[in-house]
This record gives sequence, C-alpha cells and structure tokens, in this order.
Amino acid sequence: AKDEGKNTFRMFCEELTRSSRERINLIHALQHALDRNELCLHYQPKIDNANGKVTGVEALLRWTSPEVGSIPPDRFIPLAEESRLIIPIGEWVVRTACSQQVAWKRAGCDLSMAVNISAVQLKSPELIQTIQRIIEETGIEPEQLELELTESCLVDRPDEVIKVLEKLRALRCSIAIDDFGTGYSSLSYLKNFPVTVLKIDRSFVKDLTSSSSDRAIAQSVVNLANNLDMVTVAEGVEHQHQQAVLEEIGCNFVQGFLHCEPVPPEEIPDIVRARNGE
Ligand code: C2E
Ligand code: CA
Ligand code: CA
Ligand code: CA
Repeated sequence: AKDEGKNTFRMFCEELTRSSRERINLIHALQHALDRNELCLHYQPKIDNANGKVTGVEALLRWTSPEVGSIPPDRFIPLAEESRLIIPIGEWVVRTACSQQVAWKRAGCDLSMAVNISAVQLKSPELIQTIQRIIEETGIEPEQLELELTESCLVDRPDEVIKVLEKLRALRCSIAIDDFGTGYSSLSYLKNFPVTVLKIDRSFVKDLTSSSSDRAIAQSVVNLANNLDMVTVAEGVEHQHQQAVLEEIGCNFVQGFLHCEPVPPEEIPDIVRARNGE
C-alpha cells in the first residue's frame, strides 16, 4: 500500500511536469506565431432580428502551428494572457480586424466589427493609445468598432475600469459585455459602466426552450438592456426554436451556427450579399 502511494505520487509528478512542459512548449510556439504568420482571424456574422440582415461580424482568433496543428482559442488565449503575449497578439487582432472592416466597406460591404479584448489588455496602460492609433491608421469609423469585454474584466478594480471605458467611449467605440450573466458581479455596477451592448451567454441560449428559468434570465437581460438604453446580442444560437424565443423576448441581434459559423474573410462578402439580398 505504501508503494502504491509512492507510485501514485510519482505518476502525479510526471503528469504535472508533462503538462507544464506542454504549456511551456505552447507558450514558446506562441511567441513565434505572430512573426511566422500562423495566426489568422475568422469572422462570424451577426444578424439583426428586426430585418434578418447581417449588420456586423465578430473577429475570432485562429492559430495553426506547423508543429502542433490547430489549437483552439480556449486553450491558447489563457497562455497568451499568462505570458502577456496577448498584448502584441491583441494589438495585431484589432489592427487586422479594423483593416478588414475598411477593405470590405470600400468593396460595398458595410459591417460593424466586434473584437474580443482580454482583461490583460484592458489593464495595460497602452490600450487607449493603441486603439486610437489603429483607428487613425486604418480609417475605420470608431462607431463601427465594438470592443467585447467579459464580465470578469469589470469586477476587479471597477473604478479604474470605468475610467478606461470612458476613454474608449470618448474615442466613440462601442463597448459590449461578453458572456453576460456568467460573472459574479452585482447588477448595480452596470449603470456606472458606459456600456452599449449586452451579449447573452451561450449557456442561457442552450436550453432556452426547455428551461423556463433560462428563458426568464434571457428575458430579464433584454428588459435590463432596454431600460438602460443598451442593445442585446444572443450568442450560440443553433436551432430555429431558440431563434423564435429570442425574437419573442425582443433580443436585438443573434449569432450562432444556425445562421453562420465563423468563416475566413474571403467568404464574408458572398454570405452578406446572399443574406441581405444586395
Ligand atoms: P466568445 O467571445 O464567447 O466567442 C464565441 C465562441 O462561440 C467562439 O468560439 C465561436 O466560434 C463559438 N460559437 C459561435 N456560434 C456558436 C454556436 O452556435 N454554437 C457553439 N457551440 N459555439 C458557437 P471560439 O472561436 O473557439 O472562441 C472561444 C473564445 O476564445 C471566445 O469566446 C473568446 O473568449 C476567446 N477569443 C477568441 N478570439 C479572441 C481574440 O481575438 N482575443 C481574445 N482576447 N479572446 C478571443
Ligand atoms: Ca465575444
Ligand atoms: Ca461566450
Ligand atoms: Ca467567452
């Protein structure tokens, strides 16, 4: 029995070194991902429930490493945050997304552009200047740039966060709270944050038609947003029955596989033309 304990402990240590070695290898590979052009953005259309048209897209980061293959963002974004590589990577994301928005617009495809911003970026003192510079360099209309921040970004040091958000609003960018309802914060902070969009998390959309409590939560988010002059976006809409409920409760915009999955940039103009009938 004593040996068994030892063995378990040894296996535990080996497991631990293996996983930390894997993490270190991934961080190392990520350091070169930008220079080696291994990162790209896919874009997921956002549909206006008022008319069924595509009015915007969300940029979603993709990484394919020649050594490791394709690595999902849920796996590499946390490592990029830990290593602070998210600062240069996040800057690349905003610049690439804004240039793409302007290129589409010149080609007659006018869409708003939503970009995910990590808590590490939000806390970086350079964020405001970086965004301002990218707006100037790319020529994007700042009103068409929407910054998605998770609720968890906002709870820690709210007074400082409010100042940053106010500066972003002064640049005329939109601000969305991503994964709304999944954080641990109180609702009272919402009225103090200059936020324009609430994104209803996929976890509430999933059982929207079978769970009366999830439907009540989604309805409450829509009512709250309406009362605070914000708009709502539901994410992760996969089925027509979810879409029907979202329309019924007055959700403004939808995103999800039902309408379109995230696609490479070259596919967007045809999708928009087909859907918007232009
Ligand atoms: P998120 O911001 O909540 O993005 C939505 C995720 O749901 C995306 O996963 C998208 O592909 C997926 N999705 C969209 N529609 C559906 C659907 O109908 N059903 C299901 N099951 N999933 C759907 P993805 O692209 O794997 O990204 C995962 C997360 O990684 C994002 O969650 C976001 O938090 C983060 N992320 C992605 N790109 C960036 C980025 O450029 N910067 C930062 N900081 N984070 C990013
Ligand atoms: Ca998002
Ligand atoms: Ca989400
Ligand atoms: Ca998320």
